[in-house]
Amino acid sequence: MVHSLATVVELVNTSPSTGGDEGLAGLAELQAFVESREISGVGRLTARDLGQLRMVREAFHRVFTAADQPSAVRLLNALLSETRITPRLTEHDGHPLHVHYFAADATLAEHVAADCGVALAHLLVEGEAERLRTCAAPDCERVFVDESRNRSRVYCDSRTCGNRMHVAAYRARRRA
Ligand SMILES: [Zn+2]
Ligand SMILES: [Zn+2]
Repeated sequence: MVHSLATVVELVNTSPSTGGDEGLAGLAELQAFVESREISGVGRLTARDLGQLRMVREAFHRVFTAADQPSAVRLLNALLSETRITPRLTEHDGHPLHVHYFAADATLAEHVAADCGVALAHLLVEGEAERLRTCAAPDCERVFVDESRNRSRVYCDSRTCGNRMHVAAYRARRRA
């Protein structure tokens, strides 16, 4: 679950709509993403996989940026309704026994939609929708899951936005 949440965060943050360049520009980037997230059993990747994964990515981004919990639920249900989900216990590549939610013959996009969709569903069921955040730094729209105890995190960590903002605040105070 934790792994799937980290995967969906990393996926959404490859989107140009989070403020950076297209992180899934081609098949090389797609392959690198699959390897870094240890997404198993996807076979040879094609331009079709790339297109489909980008669509799923945008659907997940809409869940992260939903205005409120009911909207997040509606958007996630729409995504789940288009995804085949078949829970299956498995052990592979040295990982302990865990559950895969994607169908055995799933494409890459279906694989990610199923596993990350279920992980987000559990988060919403636990009443944790507000942990799905967008970075508060002015030029950054990256998403993150706030896992702090008091749900106080406001900046993503990928480009050290927190440090950047603290330095800016410090300089602003010195000028004042
Ligand atoms: Zn696995
Ligand atoms: Zn940021």
